[in-house]
Amino acid sequence: MSTSKKRVLVIGAGYAGATVAVRLAGRSRGRAEVTVVNPRPQFVNRLRLHHVAIGRAVPAPDLRRMLGAGVTLVEGHVTTLDPDAGRATVAGPDGVRTLAFDRVVVATGSTTAAAPVPGGELVHAVGDLESAHRLRTAFAALAAGTPVSVVGGGFTGLETVAELAESRPDVPVRLVTAGEVGGWFTPPAAEHVRRTLEDLGVEALGGTRVRAVAPDRLVLEDGAEVPSGLTVWCGGFAAPPLARDAGIAVDDRGAILTDAALRSLSHPAVLAVGDAGHTPAPDGARFSMSCQFAFPSAAHAADALVGDTVIGFDGAVDDRPLDLGFTARCVSLGRRHAVLQPTTTTDVARGRAVTGRAAVLAKRFQVRGTVAAIGLERRLPGAIRWPHADRPVQDAPTTAGSAP
Ligand SMILES: Cc1cc2nc3c(=O)[nH]c(=O)nc-3n(C[C@H](O)[C@H](O)[C@H](O)COP(=O)(O)OP(=O)(O)OC[C@H]3O[C@@H](n4cnc5c(N)ncnc54)[C@H](O)[C@@H]3O)c2cc1C
Repeated sequence: MSTSKKRVLVIGAGYAGATVAVRLAGRSRGRAEVTVVNPRPQFVNRLRLHHVAIGRAVPAPDLRRMLGAGVTLVEGHVTTLDPDAGRATVAGPDGVRTLAFDRVVVATGSTTAAAPVPGGELVHAVGDLESAHRLRTAFAALAAGTPVSVVGGGFTGLETVAELAESRPDVPVRLVTAGEVGGWFTPPAAEHVRRTLEDLGVEALGGTRVRAVAPDRLVLEDGAEVPSGLTVWCGGFAAPPLARDAGIAVDDRGAILTDAALRSLSHPAVLAVGDAGHTPAPDGARFSMSCQFAFPSAAHAADALVGDTVIGFDGAVDDRPLDLGFTARCVSLGRRHAVLQPTTTTDVARGRAVTGRAAVLAKRFQVRGTVAAIGLERRLPGAIRWPHADRPVQDAPTTAGSAP
């Protein structure tokens, strides 16, 4: 057994990276030297980036304080990763340096996937802090009456279009989505989503794809044109190119292909957590890019590494699969509306959704609970727990359990 401290490098300090780091530092009891690289020393609560876009004040907690004394934060961007040699290059405010590691956890998250249509470079996004800041400036500068479009009717698109419409009643806001508006929800909840958007003044166009973007309009797949002086693309997330550039096997969105134990299929000593990992769920699909995956996957990876630190990293990484089931989704529609939709463990909407004040409070709890959960994990290592996949559907609670 090796007795020296093992160097664990965590790349990215979003929900997943910060959780891996504090849980591992706490649970390994000094056997692991945990270093986190993140581009900035503040924590970005991504669930609130559409709030940033409309100019709301969103706290930016100090990352060093969040991570605590047991974790070293290096400010910078990992520009190259060599998993076989155990080396990463970091470019930061103090220049370029190389970090050596025994184990690496990739927690680089995601950003909005590029809009794959002509004129795609014209769109705005809310998937990362820089994009949200750019959108804030452009949205605030819009003259009254300038039409705004949000493309994509997933959770981020719905939340974003509602915030934009609520905050600027003086501009017409439209949602364009290939699917049915609110189609993921149960039919009564979907109807509630549609009615709420209508009340907020959103014109919702479902079953329509955008074929091209121009500075003043969108071209739809049937050739029709709709005016749009500002277009926000919410067509899905993609992982940054670091893993692909490192020769690690990734999917078509750049997320690392892993087994159910979060180990890279091409480099089993590399762990991927949160949006950075494409991990098979029990039903054969992948776990969605979500907080509900980010927190449990991070906690599970930390626990696997704690086991490794005991055996000195000489053996294979712990191969226990992540046992995770979903329980509910909570989607806000502006400040005053939200829908808390129970799901099966495989993330399919079911049962009666909660709306009104209770759902708004649940959403507020979720959004603020992300930062609190990392602080709790630092103080009480092992505190983050999550619902399991084998829980019978009828027993599933209607809140997201202790994983925000
Ligand atoms: C507006 C919005 C609303 C959302 N609402 C919900 C919701 O209601 N529920 C839900 O479950 N999910 C929601 N999501 C999705 C959720 O935010 C993501 O699934 C979640 O952030 C994933 O966490 P993560 O830690 O994997 O990645 P992130 O939170 O993206 O963190 C990744 C970190 O890695 C850093 N990083 C990236 N590349 C490098 C590099 N090369 N070197 C160093 N650091 C790097 C990034 O800067 C970032 O700090 C929402 C997303 C958005 C944008």
